[in-house]
Amino acid sequence: MGTWKDALLHLLLPRACVACRGDLPFGDDGPLCGPCAEALPPPPEPACARCAAALGARRDFCGACAGRLFACRLIRARAAHRGPAASLVHAFKFRGLPSAAREAGRLMAQDLPRLPELSGFDALVPVPLHPGRRRERGYNQAELLAREVGATSGLPVLDLLRRPRHAAPSWRLDRGRRRAELAGAYAAKEEAAEASEGKRLLLIDDVCATATTLEECALALRRCGAADAAGFVFARAGRFS
Ligand SMILES: [Zn+2]
Repeated sequence: MGTWKDALLHLLLPRACVACRGDLPFGDDGPLCGPCAEALPPPPEPACARCAAALGARRDFCGACAGRLFACRLIRARAAHRGPAASLVHAFKFRGLPSAAREAGRLMAQDLPRLPELSGFDALVPVPLHPGRRRERGYNQAELLAREVGATSGLPVLDLLRRPRHAAPSWRLDRGRRRAELAGAYAAKEEAAEASEGKRLLLIDDVCATATTLEECALALRRCGAADAAGFVFARAGRFS
């Protein structure tokens, strides 16, 4: 910002907030305007740490998740997947705006200190994209999110997983079909065995709906010897949104 050229460009092509479409003030690159960034819908509180079902009382897990053994022990989200949060996701997923993913990552990073259950992890592991999809989009949004969270928290970002097989778009499938479709869709890279051994790893992804992806990724990491795996996503979809 600052030059007369920028000012002129702003006059000719005012930038708009990706959520409310309102003009952004000069010098504000968005992608969310201030009020929309403030209005991110929070995930429900208190909620099951695994499936995000709203809980009547402050407990860690809902009745269906308590006592079950999951590879991805708990999942936390920065926002519910609606309103400005859904607009931001749409911008980096379907409109090719990596700046929207960086903004989402910054919002996650800001939130991390408020989530004591996500403290004590050794590293961040982004959920991988299929190489073809990554080429198409030009970036893996989960990686951009992880980098922002890593820059603020000081946690290293480890690229330990790969997605050798391309699954059908997950939103078309119900939970059972989705599980079958995703089984084996994620695998650990060769170097993951050494890097994961005894480590507490925090998976990073953009949206979590049924948690099948996070569970598959956590399984791959646990098979490599990870001591703990949890998930931190930007937006939680599903049971409450
Ligand atoms: Zn806005």
